[in-house]
Amino acid sequence: MELVFCTNNKHKLSEVAQIIGGKINYMTLDDIHFNDEIPEPYETLEENSFTKANQVFQFSGKNCFAEDTGLFIEALYGEPGVYSARYAGEPSDSEKNIQKVLDKLKGITNRKAFFKTIITLILDGKSHQFEGLCKGSIALHKMGDQGFGYDPVFIPEGSSKSFAQHSADEKNAISHRRNAFEKMATFLSQYSSK
Ligand code: IMP
Repeated sequence: MELVFCTNNKHKLSEVAQIIGGKINYMTLDDIHFNDEIPEPYETLEENSFTKANQVFQFSGKNCFAEDTGLFIEALYGEPGVYSARYAGEPSDSEKNIQKVLDKLKGITNRKAFFKTIITLILDGKSHQFEGLCKGSIALHKMGDQGFGYDPVFIPEGSSKSFAQHSADEKNAISHRRNAFEKMATFLSQYSSK
């Protein structure tokens, strides 16, 4: 089956290659010569991920999938959430985003947070969504240099290390992205055996 992964984010490409690379073959936006900016104008991950996938589907007519991810912090009433990429303003800057989170949580003991990924798969013109969660907490300061985005300050449940102190394999075994893509892989294996 021919699928396009609707992202230009090289970190996501490499994580997803490790998670489902052996199970699902897919092309990138470069492979289909899609060079447009994909906006994320909505207030939910579901709408943004659908919009990304639909834009590529309208362009190429190919089966495709897109994902949108956010970090939801309990004491900040779910911020940065759907605004995670540009929490500290445009252009997106992970260092500034992390600093804003740490500043807002200064003196706050409830550090609970979770990552949520929503994948939209468009298959034979119909859309399907898959959710993946990873619960954890926000560290008091940055730790580690692996991964990307908020990884240096996110400590997954059951660990004392941040995601940025995990190897790629360790993160990919437990991450929100892993959970969502496992669901999509299971769905696809059942779909293609029908
Ligand atoms: P988007 O899904 O590309 O819109 O990502 C939203 C924001 O969350 C960006 O700032 C990313 O860097 C960040 N982000 C997405 N996935 C992860 C992750 O697995 N770890 C840390 N930060 C992430």
